[in-house]
Amino acid sequence: MTRPAEPYRGQKRCPVCGAGLGARGEPVSVDWSIAVPQKPTLWQKMGLQSKTPQQQTMSFFACCPECAEAAKSSPSTHLAKVIVERGGM
Ligand SMILES: [Zn+2]
Repeated sequence: MTRPAEPYRGQKRCPVCGAGLGARGEPVSVDWSIAVPQKPTLWQKMGLQSKTPQQQTMSFFACCPECAEAAKSSPSTHLAKVIVERGGM
């Protein structure tokens, strides 16, 4: 019997309540879209190209819809916990 080693991309616990993912049912994916500041290119410094902030979507899991809502209210805090748990991005 084989099981994926990291079913939730290495995340094992809910960053909101600390429960194990899956313990309360199907985990809920939380997607958080952030604008990643880019180093301006030479063209942008010269004003020849407009700045376009890159959107990046970070996603992590919460154990239940209630925790997902809580995570969305302050995603950076909870994402930081997930990153620490995963041991990196
Ligand atoms: Zn939770």
